Amino acid sequence: MKALQIENLTKTYAGGFQALKGVSLSIEPGDFFALLGPNGAGKSTTIGILSSLVRKSSGSVHIFGIDIDVDFSAAKREIGIVPQEFNFSQFEKVEDIVVNQAGYYGIPKNQAKEKAKKYLTKLGLWDKRDQPSRNLSGGMKRRLMIARALVHEPRLLILDEPTAGVDIELRRSMWDFLKEINAAGTTIILTTHYLEEAESLCRNIAIINHGEIIQKTSVKGLLKQLNKEVFVIDTLEPI
Ligand code: ADP
Ligand code: MG
Repeated sequence: MKALQIENLTKTYAGGFQALKGVSLSIEPGDFFALLGPNGAGKSTTIGILSSLVRKSSGSVHIFGIDIDVDFSAAKREIGIVPQEFNFSQFEKVEDIVVNQAGYYGIPKNQAKEKAKKYLTKLGLWDKRDQPSRNLSGGMKRRLMIARALVHEPRLLILDEPTAGVDIELRRSMWDFLKEINAAGTTIILTTHYLEEAESLCRNIAIINHGEIIQKTSVKGLLKQLNKEVFVIDTLEPI
């Protein structure tokens, strides 16, 4: 069974713009997968469909074998989503944001508090638990969204440009954290427009542009290809 199976996904926004033109992806359990592409390629539209914030036009999505059109709430339990934009209340306290999210999955309060403590601690936010989220820095808000996405311990974590605008030091610590939870068994998909990020973290990669997947390969395969181009250019230099 695949962690995620997307077939022929299309999205035409109101107004007629076709943001996805038949995207197919198949991601194995345990993978660390990058969806790499420039701004406007269709990455967030794809993630939006997975989180049901965006309604697809056609195509199918299975998450661990569950068809999202058949049982979205069962599929939702399998995934944690870290959206590109902050989407929590500026006034709610850090701990409450995570505990309340657990409530949506029917996790009992005491267990929710325990999980919130576990993930806020892992992400270096436990000492901020009583602060309203507006007091957090951008990087802390991003980590808060990761803690919130993990509180129900999903098998698949999906992050939409998690390190955009995050400074290099924090980016590296987020990378280490993501590697750790992937090594512990969580399948991870992230979108990024940094090749370096895909290279440092991921095993497999799909490149998306103008709503179409233009290449699917292993990260090693992609790097080999790029080196080859550099090599060809190098051999031309003496002339
Ligand atoms: P990415 O995340 O790769 O930067 P998006 O999925 O956000 O790309 O956007 C893909 C394309 O769809 C862009 O051209 C964007 O302008 C367009 N788009 C995104 N959201 C909407 C919307 N709600 N209505 C119309 N067009 C949209
Ligand atoms: Mg985006």
